[in-house]
Amino acid sequence: MRKQIAAANWKMNLNYEQALTLSQTVISGLPSLKNHQQVIFGVPFPYLLPIVDLAKQSEHVSVAAQNCSDKSSGAFTGETSVEMLTSIGVTHVIVGHSERREYFQESNAMIAEKINLLLQSNLIPIFCCGEPLAEREAENQDVYVAAQIKESLFHLNADQIKHVIIAYEPIWAIGTGKTASAEQAEEMHAFIRQTIADQFGAILAENCSILYGGSVKVGNAKEIFSMPNVDGGLVGGASLKADEFLQVIAGLK
Ligand code: PEP
Repeated sequence: MRKQIAAANWKMNLNYEQALTLSQTVISGLPSLKNHQQVIFGVPFPYLLPIVDLAKQSEHVSVAAQNCSDKSSGAFTGETSVEMLTSIGVTHVIVGHSERREYFQESNAMIAEKINLLLQSNLIPIFCCGEPLAEREAENQDVYVAAQIKESLFHLNADQIKHVIIAYEPIWAIGTGKTASAEQAEEMHAFIRQTIADQFGAILAENCSILYGGSVKVGNAKEIFSMPNVDGGLVGGASLKADEFLQVIAGLK
């Protein structure tokens, strides 16, 4: 069975003490997880190292950075390279989150560069895609998301794409409390899997974990995760409280 993943995206929230308490409480409270089930903490840069250390308590827990530079090293003040993340034991990086696309003008091409650097260093990209409300209202979500996937992933070879996790996050559902219905999520996930299959083959697509993101919470996680093409979630708000995130994790299939 392909990996089923509950990935937390803390964004720019929590102070250091809160971050340590949250991650330790989640790790201590984890239900017994199956081999194919995984929890990932998407952690702000300053807390990565200690939380990588805490995560060693469970083989099911990994740590992701929320971004990385598209350059490998050099005079880029304020940036964080893939090599830096590798050197402290980070294994995953969220790339192409809609907030980075919107507020930091990240393009599909730039995201492709980040993915190249990550894969060269054996880090796993969690590649975010998803349409804004206007595209959904114009029923253009398939075309929009397919273009994001083509421009950021289609240059990869089969050996590379199998290490990529995809997170479908309709922008109109992020942090809005407005969740896609389980059927809407399933429809898009099936479309994304087919898009991957058309380019890389059915077996590879079958093994690709595709997470849903957008107001996942205690009350809807299990239903959304139960859809055949949904392999867990990328969770913002509900990942900031240990008891809520633990209930989301319990919804993994
Ligand atoms: C996200 O940040 O990726 C996200 C989906 O946020 P929220 O769960 O708060 O909508």
